Amino acid sequence: MTRRLYLDDPHLMTFDATVRDVAPAGEHLAVVLDQSAFYPESGGQLPDRGTLQAHRVLDVQVHADGTVVHTVQWPDADGLRVGDGVRGVVDRHHRRSQMALHTAQHMLSQALYLELLADTVSARLSEASATIDLNIADATDAGLDKAAQAVNALIDDDVAVRAIFPTPEELAALPLRSPPKVTDNIRVIAVQDFDVTPCGGTHVERTAQIGFVHLTKTERVKKSLRVHFTAGPPGRDHLFARDHIVQQLCDKLTCGAPDLPDVLDKQLAQLKAQRQELGQLWRALADAEGRTWLTAKDPVLVVELADKDPAYLAALQGVFRTHQRPAVIVHQTAEATDVLLTSPDPAALDCGATMKALAVALGGKGGGKPDNARGRLPAPAADVARAVRQQLS
Ligand SMILES: [Zn+2]
Repeated sequence: MTRRLYLDDPHLMTFDATVRDVAPAGEHLAVVLDQSAFYPESGGQLPDRGTLQAHRVLDVQVHADGTVVHTVQWPDADGLRVGDGVRGVVDRHHRRSQMALHTAQHMLSQALYLELLADTVSARLSEASATIDLNIADATDAGLDKAAQAVNALIDDDVAVRAIFPTPEELAALPLRSPPKVTDNIRVIAVQDFDVTPCGGTHVERTAQIGFVHLTKTERVKKSLRVHFTAGPPGRDHLFARDHIVQQLCDKLTCGAPDLPDVLDKQLAQLKAQRQELGQLWRALADAEGRTWLTAKDPVLVVELADKDPAYLAALQGVFRTHQRPAVIVHQTAEATDVLLTSPDPAALDCGATMKALAVALGGKGGGKPDNARGRLPAPAADVARAVRQQLS
């Protein structure tokens, strides 16, 4: 069993240890030490990162017998032997973030229970945020806000977070939020008397070290309500980045942050109205230009166009359809050539079959029915138009 130094001192980031076992692990080494400050992945908390003798520690896992195994990016497989002394350095920023998120999760789980009578089914930490899955289907914003406010009030009050190893009698008397998952050496984390729960993870020592907790969103996952939140240093980075984006939007739209939603709503409404107006103009233009195409005597019209609006193309196809004229519109865009086919008479033009043959000849995709088909081909419009005429001849 590896002695776990983080249990006594979660702020210990540098430690010396002796190698107890070393074995190849793929391209890396699996290293077991007599003691370690590296937190192994468990309880929804990510494993620590850092270095062992300046070589990167990629993963830390714990076996059922309590042995902590470090996966180390070690360049020389024979470069480490049992009995060697090594120095480990834990990535402080990563651990500090996990401690803040993890302790915030304890407090938030209790606050959500008190406010919504919701039990935490599971919790998961990622690099910069965390989630709690609750055994309820939905919650009001007011209830969630109140829970977050209760946690933030305790953070402001800077209360102690203690790790205790109670006797069985003491344990029986504690108001535990959840039952312990182990039977021996049960460690209990007490956030003052607000939350008391068994846990083997790493936590801050005082709540002010969390800084704040901020709920970012909720979502329904199967029968659970998943609450997303952030806290501590990664939460601060998240909010500062958001604030920077908000400031950029304010500068672009020349308004204050509180006015952003209204200003954007107005701009989007204007844009929608202008798009509708533009669509009407495109359709009017297609109607006028379509009539000039109709004067051509060709049994099947082949119309070459470039950079037109989809509203124009749909309207032009509509003109040909209305006047019962088989037509192939070949439209060059920046990326490819679009082909739109319409026909009242499969004997004159079978749209689906013609489109399929074009795709076979020129690559690309397309298909449809005898009276209507479309496709997108990688070839230039001139080549596509030539291939269309060959198909028709
Ligand atoms: Zn914990």
